[in-house]
Amino acid sequence: MNNSFVVDRRRISAITERGYESINDELVCKEDASCIVYWMSRDQRITDNWALIACMEQSQKRQLPIRILFTLVPEFLDATIRQYDFMIKGLEEVQQQSLKLGIPFHLILDSDPAATVTAFADTYNAGMIITDFDPLKIKLEWKRKAGISLQCPLYEVDAHNVIPARFISQKTEFAAYTLRPKVHKVLHEFLIPYPEVQSFTQDLSQDSSFSAQEVLQKVRVRKDIQPVRTFTPGPHAAMIALESFIGYKLHDYGEKRNDPNMGNVSDMSPWLHFGSISSQTIALKIKGSNSNKESIDSYLEELIVRKELADNYCLYTKEYDNFNGFHNWAQTSLNAHRSDTREYIYSQEQFEQAITHDALWNAAQLEMMHTGKMHGYMRMYWAKKILEWTQTPEEAQSIAIYLNDTYELDGRDANGYTGIAWSIGGVHDRAWFERPVYGKIRYMNANGCKSKFDVKKYINSHMSDRKGDTLF
Ligand SMILES: Cc1cc2nc3c(=O)[nH]c(=O)nc-3n(C[C@H](O)[C@H](O)[C@H](O)COP(=O)(O)OP(=O)(O)OC[C@H]3O[C@@H](n4cnc5c(N)ncnc54)[C@H](O)[C@@H]3O)c2cc1C
Repeated sequence: MNNSFVVDRRRISAITERGYESINDELVCKEDASCIVYWMSRDQRITDNWALIACMEQSQKRQLPIRILFTLVPEFLDATIRQYDFMIKGLEEVQQQSLKLGIPFHLILDSDPAATVTAFADTYNAGMIITDFDPLKIKLEWKRKAGISLQCPLYEVDAHNVIPARFISQKTEFAAYTLRPKVHKVLHEFLIPYPEVQSFTQDLSQDSSFSAQEVLQKVRVRKDIQPVRTFTPGPHAAMIALESFIGYKLHDYGEKRNDPNMGNVSDMSPWLHFGSISSQTIALKIKGSNSNKESIDSYLEELIVRKELADNYCLYTKEYDNFNGFHNWAQTSLNAHRSDTREYIYSQEQFEQAITHDALWNAAQLEMMHTGKMHGYMRMYWAKKILEWTQTPEEAQSIAIYLNDTYELDGRDANGYTGIAWSIGGVHDRAWFERPVYGKIRYMNANGCKSKFDVKKYINSHMSDRKGDTLF
């Protein structure tokens, strides 16, 4: 038997009525089953996907074909047609790749994913369901319900993190410095090449297919936030973007990544968010490049330590999207400054329309609205100013999440909830000097930005269609 499809058991958990249980050895399959089902969700790709590889392993072992199911909900958090368009078009490409291997790809639109996967498992007599990992509450709830209603075993495979989130830590990590040593200790065990999935074939693909255009007409999301042309959906475009970054920009990443005018970042986050490409694939390519050590190391720090810290935060902090998720010191400090006078107060609508007094903030908001992605350095400034210019930290966090999830292609992501909690609530940060409104939360101002990059150039490049905005 070809046993090239073997998945490290530390990536896999069984989801039962009792919760998540680690796996030491074999997965259990229902007797007389007709197929193995991959319930695809966060990791929307065929190549380099440990959840699909786990299905391939089981398929070969048990001589059962694989079916892929994607349960599409007609509305999701604050996603609009912009994100649905990107996702469904990407999934159309994934479907084509799946059919090439002879694996049927079923996309079912329904508001109850647990009921959908249960009915699907019954219809096709599934021996087991394998799904991918996601720390967001909504996804955990879908899986909890499916774990109860399914008549066959349900497994989760962490296909998103280089080091599986449930394995690397069983608690909320305090900061990057507590996670980093754990990551570096085992990284060599997990940062390994993937098996070649193209060598897997079966002959079942005739009975499924969907068209992106038809599906997009059926979703019930906001249509006024239009798709953007800045990013092309799907795994193929993700790989082209990665190769271009490595070829032309990586060498300056260490030095210039915080300059929003330079464009020396990878722009991988929209594809990473939708799982069009895996962090592990990116990390292997970055590590294997002939770029300088400083840039490679700082890129891997962001991609692995910072990104996987965000998954850790959301996995173990149920209140990752509200004030109660902040450290005690931050809550105490923000509470002590609730009655401080705010120099400016804006409503959600004013923020959304980018009509604050601050041209730099407005430019960042417009960058996000027009391109679907704000530069990472500006995201910190953007969120901190929302804290400064609203009545309460709760309101600031809620507005930041709403705008982030509505306009960013990479929104509704563990990175987003954590980045906002870092900016507004000091999560993963330390206490700084006390000042009005912020308390001990780290402060940022436009002068700090001026010392790092050409602020005027950034404003001009995102406000060219707006008259009357002055520099500070
Ligand atoms: C207020 C705020 C909101 C944010 N919202 C999101 C969001 O909705 N979705 C999202 O993916 N990221 C978010 N981030 C994190 C970070 O800003 C983006 O991941 C990054 O800007 C994406 O651009 P890039 O791919 O060009 O990054 P690069 O600099 O090229 O980095 C490569 C990858 O490393 C990871 N990474 C980089 N910086 C961080 C970071 N600070 N924390 C965690 N991972 C990081 C990302 O996966 C990124 O794609 C947010 C940060 C803040 C402060």
